[in-house]
Amino acid sequence: MRRSPANVRPGAADIVSQAAPDTDLSEGERARILAKAALFAPPPATLADGRRDLVGLTRDELAAEMVAIGEQPFRAKQLWHWIYHQGVTDFSRMPSIAKPMQAKLAERFVVGRPEATTVQTSTDGTRKFLFRYRDGQEVETVYIPSPDEDRGAVCISTQVGCTLSCKFCHTGTQKLVRNLGAAEIVGQFMAARDSYGEWPSPKDGTARHLSNIVVMGMGEPLYNYENTAKAMRIVMDNEGIALSRRRITLSTSGVVPMMDRCGAELNVNLAVSLHAVTNELRNEIVPLNRKYPIEELMAACRRYPGASNARRITFEYVMLRGVNDSPAEAHELVRLLKGLPAKVNLIPFNPWPGSPYKTSTGEAVRAFAEILEAGGYSSPVRRPRGRDISAACGQLKTESERVRRVKADAA
Ligand code: SF4
Repeated sequence: MRRSPANVRPGAADIVSQAAPDTDLSEGERARILAKAALFAPPPATLADGRRDLVGLTRDELAAEMVAIGEQPFRAKQLWHWIYHQGVTDFSRMPSIAKPMQAKLAERFVVGRPEATTVQTSTDGTRKFLFRYRDGQEVETVYIPSPDEDRGAVCISTQVGCTLSCKFCHTGTQKLVRNLGAAEIVGQFMAARDSYGEWPSPKDGTARHLSNIVVMGMGEPLYNYENTAKAMRIVMDNEGIALSRRRITLSTSGVVPMMDRCGAELNVNLAVSLHAVTNELRNEIVPLNRKYPIEELMAACRRYPGASNARRITFEYVMLRGVNDSPAEAHELVRLLKGLPAKVNLIPFNPWPGSPYKTSTGEAVRAFAEILEAGGYSSPVRRPRGRDISAACGQLKTESERVRRVKADAA
Protein backbone atom coordinates (compact mmCIF):
# COMPACT_ATOMS: atom_id res chain seq x y z
CA MET A 1 0.00 0.00 0.00
CA ARG A 2 1.19 3.50 -0.74
CA ARG A 3 0.87 6.26 1.76
CA SER A 4 -1.61 9.01 0.93
CA PRO A 5 0.63 11.95 -0.12
CA ALA A 6 2.35 9.62 -2.54
CA ASN A 7 -0.70 9.63 -4.72
CA VAL A 8 -0.34 13.31 -5.54
CA ARG A 9 2.59 13.61 -7.88
CA PRO A 10 4.10 16.87 -9.06
CA GLY A 11 5.17 17.36 -12.64
CA ALA A 12 8.86 17.69 -13.41
CA ALA A 13 8.56 21.30 -14.50
CA ASP A 14 6.87 22.23 -11.27
CA ILE A 15 9.67 21.11 -9.06
CA VAL A 16 12.36 22.46 -11.36
CA SER A 17 10.70 25.86 -11.20
CA GLN A 18 10.36 25.54 -7.45
CA ALA A 19 14.08 25.04 -7.19
CA ALA A 20 14.96 27.90 -9.52
CA PRO A 21 13.75 31.04 -7.79
CA ASP A 22 15.14 33.40 -10.41
CA THR A 23 12.87 32.02 -13.12
CA ASP A 24 10.28 34.56 -14.34
CA LEU A 25 6.98 33.39 -12.91
CA SER A 26 3.50 34.77 -12.69
CA GLU A 27 2.10 35.24 -9.21
CA GLY A 28 -0.40 32.43 -9.68
CA GLU A 29 2.33 30.08 -10.82
CA ARG A 30 4.52 31.00 -7.86
CA ALA A 31 1.65 30.35 -5.43
CA ARG A 32 0.95 26.98 -7.04
CA ILE A 33 4.61 25.99 -6.78
CA LEU A 34 4.80 27.06 -3.14
CA ALA A 35 1.72 24.97 -2.38
CA LYS A 36 3.29 21.94 -4.04
CA ALA A 37 6.60 22.51 -2.25
CA ALA A 38 4.72 22.61 1.06
CA LEU A 39 2.97 19.34 0.21
CA PHE A 40 6.28 17.53 -0.16
CA ALA A 41 8.23 19.50 2.46
CA PRO A 42 10.14 17.72 5.20
CA PRO A 43 8.70 18.02 8.72
CA PRO A 44 9.84 20.88 10.99
CA ALA A 45 13.19 20.41 12.71
CA THR A 46 11.58 20.74 16.14
CA LEU A 47 10.76 17.83 18.42
CA ALA A 48 7.40 17.37 20.15
CA ASP A 49 9.00 18.74 23.36
CA GLY A 50 9.94 21.98 21.57
CA ARG A 51 13.69 21.32 21.30
CA ARG A 52 15.26 22.07 17.95
CA ASP A 53 17.61 19.80 16.05
CA LEU A 54 20.89 21.61 15.37
CA VAL A 55 21.94 19.21 12.61
CA GLY A 56 21.31 20.56 9.13
CA LEU A 57 21.73 24.25 10.01
CA THR A 58 24.28 26.36 8.16
CA ARG A 59 26.96 28.04 10.24
CA ASP A 60 25.03 31.33 10.02
CA GLU A 61 21.80 29.66 11.12
CA LEU A 62 23.61 28.01 14.01
CA ALA A 63 25.05 31.37 15.07
CA ALA A 64 21.56 32.90 14.87
CA GLU A 65 20.23 30.17 17.18
CA MET A 66 22.97 31.03 19.70
CA VAL A 67 22.18 34.74 19.53
CA ALA A 68 18.48 33.95 19.98
CA ILE A 69 19.24 32.31 23.34
CA GLY A 70 21.45 35.22 24.44
CA GLU A 71 24.81 33.61 23.64
CA GLN A 72 27.72 34.83 21.57
CA PRO A 73 27.79 33.77 17.90
CA PHE A 74 31.24 32.16 18.40
CA ARG A 75 29.45 29.31 20.19
CA ALA A 76 28.39 28.18 16.72
CA LYS A 77 32.02 27.47 15.83
CA GLN A 78 32.47 25.37 18.96
CA LEU A 79 29.26 23.47 18.31
CA TRP A 80 30.15 22.91 14.66
CA HIS A 81 33.39 21.29 15.77
CA TRP A 82 31.65 18.97 18.25
CA ILE A 83 28.78 18.08 15.95
CA TYR A 84 30.57 17.60 12.64
CA HIS A 85 34.21 16.97 13.49
CA GLN A 86 33.86 14.97 16.69
CA GLY A 87 30.45 13.45 15.94
CA VAL A 88 29.23 14.08 19.49
CA THR A 89 25.46 14.04 20.04
CA ASP A 90 25.40 14.72 23.79
CA PHE A 91 26.08 18.28 24.99
CA SER A 92 27.54 16.94 28.26
CA ARG A 93 30.35 15.38 26.21
CA MET A 94 31.49 18.73 24.82
CA PRO A 95 34.18 19.67 27.39
CA SER A 96 35.15 23.00 25.82
CA ILE A 97 31.64 24.23 26.67
CA ALA A 98 31.07 25.14 30.35
CA LYS A 99 28.65 22.93 32.28
CA PRO A 100 25.89 25.59 32.74
CA MET A 101 25.99 26.28 29.03
CA GLN A 102 25.81 22.54 28.27
CA ALA A 103 22.65 22.35 30.36
CA LYS A 104 21.19 25.41 28.65
CA LEU A 105 21.84 23.87 25.24
CA ALA A 106 20.34 20.53 26.27
CA GLU A 107 17.15 22.29 27.40
CA ARG A 108 16.65 23.89 24.03
CA PHE A 109 18.37 21.74 21.42
CA VAL A 110 19.26 18.23 20.33
CA VAL A 111 21.92 16.88 17.97
CA GLY A 112 19.76 14.44 16.06
CA ARG A 113 20.29 11.27 14.11
CA PRO A 114 17.82 9.23 12.11
CA GLU A 115 16.86 6.06 13.96
CA ALA A 116 18.37 2.94 12.40
CA THR A 117 15.46 0.51 12.54
CA THR A 118 17.23 -2.20 10.56
CA VAL A 119 20.91 -2.73 9.79
CA GLN A 120 21.88 -5.61 7.52
CA THR A 121 25.38 -6.56 6.44
CA SER A 122 25.86 -8.54 3.25
CA THR A 123 28.32 -11.38 2.84
CA ASP A 124 30.34 -8.99 0.64
CA GLY A 125 30.53 -6.37 3.41
CA THR A 126 27.87 -4.05 2.01
CA ARG A 127 25.82 -2.66 4.84
CA LYS A 128 22.26 -1.43 4.42
CA PHE A 129 20.52 0.83 6.91
CA LEU A 130 16.82 1.47 7.10
CA PHE A 131 16.53 4.89 8.72
CA ARG A 132 13.34 6.23 10.25
CA TYR A 133 12.70 9.92 10.72
CA ARG A 134 10.59 11.72 13.30
CA ASP A 135 7.41 11.53 11.20
CA GLY A 136 7.81 7.78 10.74
CA GLN A 137 8.97 7.98 7.11
CA GLU A 138 11.87 5.74 6.17
CA VAL A 139 14.68 5.66 3.64
CA GLU A 140 17.52 3.32 2.89
CA THR A 141 21.20 4.14 2.94
CA VAL A 142 23.87 1.73 1.79
CA TYR A 143 27.59 1.59 2.62
CA ILE A 144 29.54 -0.13 -0.14
CA PRO A 145 33.10 -0.97 0.87
CA SER A 146 35.72 -1.10 -1.85
CA PRO A 147 36.62 -4.78 -2.36
CA ASP A 148 40.36 -4.08 -2.61
CA GLU A 149 41.00 -1.03 -0.49
CA ASP A 150 40.28 0.28 2.96
CA ARG A 151 37.61 2.77 1.84
CA GLY A 152 34.07 2.84 0.59
CA ALA A 153 31.10 4.88 -0.55
CA VAL A 154 27.92 5.70 1.28
CA CYS A 155 24.94 5.82 -1.05
CA ILE A 156 22.46 8.29 0.38
CA SER A 157 18.83 9.07 -0.40
CA THR A 158 17.30 12.50 -0.94
CA GLN A 159 13.59 11.75 -1.15
CA VAL A 160 11.14 9.26 0.33
CA GLY A 161 10.05 7.52 -2.86
CA CYS A 162 10.64 9.09 -6.24
CA THR A 163 8.65 11.06 -8.81
CA LEU A 164 10.33 9.62 -11.84
CA SER A 165 9.18 6.00 -12.24
CA CYS A 166 12.15 4.79 -14.28
CA LYS A 167 10.85 1.53 -15.62
CA PHE A 168 13.77 -0.68 -14.57
CA CYS A 169 13.96 0.71 -11.02
CA HIS A 170 12.16 -0.84 -8.10
CA THR A 171 12.60 2.31 -6.02
CA GLY A 172 10.64 4.14 -8.71
CA THR A 173 7.60 1.96 -8.06
CA GLN A 174 7.17 3.82 -4.78
CA LYS A 175 5.77 7.21 -5.66
CA LEU A 176 7.12 10.35 -4.05
CA VAL A 177 6.08 10.73 -0.43
CA ARG A 178 8.17 13.75 0.49
CA ASN A 179 11.53 15.44 0.21
CA LEU A 180 14.16 14.89 2.86
CA GLY A 181 15.45 17.91 4.78
CA ALA A 182 19.15 18.80 4.89
CA ALA A 183 19.44 17.30 8.40
CA GLU A 184 17.87 14.07 7.19
CA ILE A 185 20.28 13.86 4.26
CA VAL A 186 23.49 14.64 6.15
CA GLY A 187 22.16 12.57 9.06
CA GLN A 188 22.33 9.40 6.94
CA PHE A 189 26.07 9.85 6.46
CA MET A 190 26.63 10.74 10.11
CA ALA A 191 24.66 7.75 11.34
CA ALA A 192 26.54 5.45 8.95
CA ARG A 193 29.78 6.80 10.42
CA ASP A 194 28.42 6.17 13.92
CA SER A 195 27.96 2.56 12.87
CA TYR A 196 31.66 2.27 12.01
CA GLY A 197 32.86 4.52 14.85
CA GLU A 198 34.52 6.80 12.33
CA TRP A 199 34.75 9.88 14.55
CA PRO A 200 36.43 12.31 14.83
CA SER A 201 36.58 13.06 11.11
CA PRO A 202 39.88 11.70 9.82
CA LYS A 203 42.28 14.47 8.83
CA ASP A 204 43.72 14.93 5.34
CA GLY A 205 45.75 11.97 4.27
CA THR A 206 44.34 9.64 6.91
CA ALA A 207 42.39 6.73 5.48
CA ARG A 208 38.63 6.87 5.80
CA HIS A 209 36.44 3.79 5.63
CA LEU A 210 33.51 5.97 4.64
CA SER A 211 35.55 7.93 2.12
CA ASN A 212 32.99 8.86 -0.53
CA ILE A 213 29.37 9.85 -0.89
CA VAL A 214 27.26 8.89 -3.84
CA VAL A 215 23.94 10.68 -3.98
CA MET A 216 22.29 7.80 -5.77
CA GLY A 217 19.85 6.33 -3.30
CA MET A 218 16.11 6.84 -3.30
CA GLY A 219 14.88 9.90 -5.16
CA GLU A 220 16.07 12.40 -7.72
CA PRO A 221 18.42 14.78 -5.86
CA LEU A 222 17.95 17.61 -8.35
CA TYR A 223 14.23 17.60 -7.54
CA ASN A 224 15.20 18.32 -3.95
CA TYR A 225 18.11 20.54 -4.77
CA GLU A 226 17.99 23.08 -1.94
CA ASN A 227 18.08 20.48 0.81
CA THR A 228 20.61 18.31 -1.00
CA ALA A 229 22.90 21.29 -1.64
CA LYS A 230 22.66 22.41 1.98
CA ALA A 231 23.57 18.93 3.18
CA MET A 232 26.51 18.67 0.78
CA ARG A 233 27.86 22.05 1.87
CA ILE A 234 27.81 20.82 5.47
CA VAL A 235 29.61 17.61 4.49
CA MET A 236 32.27 19.56 2.58
CA ASP A 237 32.93 22.13 5.32
CA ASN A 238 36.61 21.93 6.24
CA GLU A 239 36.08 22.29 9.98
CA GLY A 240 33.64 19.43 10.19
CA ILE A 241 33.22 16.27 8.15
CA ALA A 242 35.53 17.82 5.55
CA LEU A 243 34.83 15.56 2.61
CA SER A 244 36.23 16.98 -0.61
CA ARG A 245 33.80 17.68 -3.45
CA ARG A 246 35.88 15.28 -5.49
CA ARG A 247 34.70 12.52 -3.18
CA ILE A 248 31.04 13.30 -3.75
CA THR A 249 29.13 12.13 -6.80
CA LEU A 250 25.62 13.30 -7.49
CA SER A 251 23.56 11.17 -9.82
CA THR A 252 20.71 12.61 -11.86
CA SER A 253 18.31 11.21 -14.36
CA GLY A 254 18.78 14.44 -16.30
CA VAL A 255 17.02 17.43 -14.73
CA VAL A 256 18.80 19.69 -17.19
CA PRO A 257 18.24 23.18 -15.69
CA MET A 258 19.33 22.00 -12.26
CA MET A 259 22.47 20.36 -13.64
CA ASP A 260 23.72 23.84 -14.54
CA ARG A 261 22.94 25.12 -11.07
CA CYS A 262 24.55 22.12 -9.39
CA GLY A 263 27.70 22.60 -11.47
CA ALA A 264 27.92 26.30 -10.70
CA GLU A 265 27.19 26.02 -6.98
CA LEU A 266 28.45 22.63 -5.78
CA ASN A 267 30.62 21.34 -8.60
CA VAL A 268 30.65 17.84 -7.20
CA ASN A 269 31.24 14.91 -9.54
CA LEU A 270 28.36 14.22 -11.87
CA ALA A 271 26.79 10.90 -12.78
CA VAL A 272 23.99 10.64 -15.31
CA SER A 273 21.49 7.79 -15.49
CA LEU A 274 21.42 7.41 -19.26
CA HIS A 275 20.30 3.82 -19.94
CA ALA A 276 19.29 4.37 -23.57
CA VAL A 277 20.74 6.05 -26.65
CA THR A 278 17.56 6.95 -28.51
CA ASN A 279 14.82 9.27 -27.36
CA GLU A 280 12.25 6.70 -28.31
CA LEU A 281 13.61 4.10 -25.87
CA ARG A 282 14.68 6.58 -23.20
CA ASN A 283 11.19 8.13 -23.20
CA GLU A 284 9.95 4.72 -22.24
CA ILE A 285 12.45 3.63 -19.62
CA VAL A 286 13.42 7.03 -18.15
CA PRO A 287 10.20 9.02 -18.64
CA LEU A 288 11.92 12.29 -17.64
CA ASN A 289 13.45 12.14 -21.12
CA ARG A 290 10.14 13.36 -22.55
CA LYS A 291 10.85 16.67 -20.83
CA TYR A 292 14.61 16.82 -21.30
CA PRO A 293 15.59 14.73 -24.34
CA ILE A 294 18.99 13.22 -24.92
CA GLU A 295 20.32 16.15 -26.98
CA GLU A 296 19.57 18.62 -24.16
CA LEU A 297 20.97 16.24 -21.58
CA MET A 298 24.24 15.77 -23.46
CA ALA A 299 24.54 19.54 -23.99
CA ALA A 300 24.14 20.04 -20.21
CA CYS A 301 26.89 17.47 -19.62
CA ARG A 302 29.18 19.35 -21.98
CA ARG A 303 28.49 22.56 -20.03
CA TYR A 304 29.18 20.92 -16.66
CA PRO A 305 32.18 22.70 -15.13
CA GLY A 306 35.42 20.92 -14.41
CA ALA A 307 34.81 17.83 -16.55
CA SER A 308 38.24 16.61 -17.60
CA ASN A 309 40.01 13.34 -18.14
CA ALA A 310 40.94 13.37 -14.47
CA ARG A 311 37.35 14.06 -13.51
CA ARG A 312 35.09 12.35 -15.96
CA ILE A 313 31.32 12.37 -16.00
CA THR A 314 29.98 8.92 -15.24
CA PHE A 315 27.17 7.58 -17.39
CA GLU A 316 25.15 4.83 -15.77
CA TYR A 317 23.82 2.27 -18.20
CA VAL A 318 21.71 -0.59 -16.89
CA MET A 319 21.97 -3.59 -19.21
CA LEU A 320 18.52 -4.90 -20.17
CA ARG A 321 18.44 -8.03 -22.23
CA GLY A 322 17.29 -7.43 -25.79
CA VAL A 323 16.21 -3.88 -24.92
CA ASN A 324 19.25 -1.60 -24.90
CA ASP A 325 22.25 -3.94 -25.13
CA SER A 326 22.91 -4.35 -28.87
CA PRO A 327 26.26 -3.58 -30.55
CA ALA A 328 24.50 -0.88 -32.61
CA GLU A 329 23.48 0.85 -29.38
CA ALA A 330 27.03 0.63 -28.07
CA HIS A 331 28.29 2.35 -31.25
CA GLU A 332 25.62 5.03 -30.89
CA LEU A 333 26.71 5.59 -27.29
CA VAL A 334 30.30 6.16 -28.43
CA ARG A 335 28.97 8.70 -30.92
CA LEU A 336 26.91 10.50 -28.26
CA LEU A 337 29.87 10.75 -25.89
CA LYS A 338 32.34 11.97 -28.52
CA GLY A 339 34.62 14.65 -27.11
CA LEU A 340 33.21 14.37 -23.59
CA PRO A 341 35.47 13.25 -20.71
CA ALA A 342 33.33 10.32 -19.69
CA LYS A 343 33.24 6.79 -18.43
CA VAL A 344 30.35 4.37 -18.62
CA ASN A 345 29.29 2.16 -15.74
CA LEU A 346 27.60 -0.91 -17.15
CA ILE A 347 25.17 -2.21 -14.55
CA PRO A 348 23.81 -5.73 -14.87
CA PHE A 349 20.09 -5.38 -14.24
CA ASN A 350 19.00 -6.54 -10.78
CA PRO A 351 15.66 -8.22 -11.32
CA TRP A 352 12.91 -7.66 -8.77
CA PRO A 353 9.56 -9.42 -8.48
CA GLY A 354 7.35 -8.31 -11.36
CA SER A 355 10.11 -6.41 -13.16
CA PRO A 356 9.53 -6.27 -16.90
CA TYR A 357 13.18 -6.87 -17.84
CA LYS A 358 15.85 -9.54 -17.75
CA THR A 359 19.57 -9.21 -17.14
CA SER A 360 21.67 -9.03 -20.32
CA THR A 361 23.76 -12.08 -21.04
CA GLY A 362 27.41 -11.96 -20.03
CA GLU A 363 28.31 -12.18 -23.69
CA ALA A 364 26.17 -9.14 -24.61
CA VAL A 365 27.67 -7.12 -21.75
CA ARG A 366 31.21 -8.04 -22.81
CA ALA A 367 30.56 -7.14 -26.46
CA PHE A 368 28.99 -3.83 -25.42
CA ALA A 369 31.94 -3.00 -23.17
CA GLU A 370 34.46 -3.87 -25.89
CA ILE A 371 32.87 -1.43 -28.34
CA LEU A 372 32.95 1.33 -25.73
CA GLU A 373 36.57 0.57 -24.84
CA ALA A 374 37.52 0.59 -28.52
CA GLY A 375 35.81 3.98 -28.77
CA GLY A 376 38.06 5.26 -25.97
CA TYR A 377 35.63 5.01 -23.05
CA SER A 378 36.40 3.09 -19.92
CA SER A 379 33.36 0.91 -19.25
CA PRO A 380 33.67 -1.16 -16.10
CA VAL A 381 30.94 -3.67 -15.47
CA ARG A 382 29.64 -2.91 -12.02
CA ARG A 383 29.71 -5.98 -9.85
CA PRO A 384 26.36 -6.30 -8.07
CA ARG A 385 26.90 -5.60 -4.37
CA GLY A 386 24.74 -6.53 -1.43
CA ARG A 387 22.35 -8.59 -3.52
CA ASP A 388 21.60 -10.86 -0.57
CA ILE A 389 20.23 -7.90 1.38
CA SER A 390 18.49 -6.18 -1.58
CA ALA A 391 20.97 -3.31 -1.42
CA ALA A 392 22.05 -3.41 -5.03
CA CYS A 393 21.28 -0.67 -7.54
CA GLY A 394 17.61 -0.08 -8.18
CA GLN A 395 16.52 -2.39 -5.36
CA LEU A 396 16.34 0.18 -2.60
CA LYS A 397 13.14 0.35 -0.59
CA THR A 398 12.06 -3.10 -1.68
CA GLU A 399 12.80 -4.78 1.59
CA SER A 400 11.41 -2.03 3.80
CA GLU A 401 8.11 -2.06 1.93
CA ARG A 402 7.99 -5.79 2.21
CA VAL A 403 8.72 -5.68 5.94
CA ARG A 404 6.05 -3.05 6.43
CA ARG A 405 3.54 -5.18 4.57
CA VAL A 406 4.44 -8.24 6.62
CA LYS A 407 3.95 -6.19 9.79
CA ALA A 408 0.60 -4.91 8.52
CA ASP A 409 -0.48 -8.42 7.66
CA ALA A 410 0.47 -9.61 11.13
CA ALA A 411 -1.47 -6.80 12.84
S1 SF4 B 1 16.37 5.33 -11.07
FE1 SF4 B 1 16.52 7.00 -9.59
S2 SF4 B 1 15.29 8.63 -10.55
FE2 SF4 B 1 14.69 6.73 -11.60
S3 SF4 B 1 12.91 5.97 -10.43
FE3 SF4 B 1 14.76 5.01 -9.55
S4 SF4 B 1 15.29 6.35 -7.80
FE4 SF4 B 1 13.92 7.52 -9.17
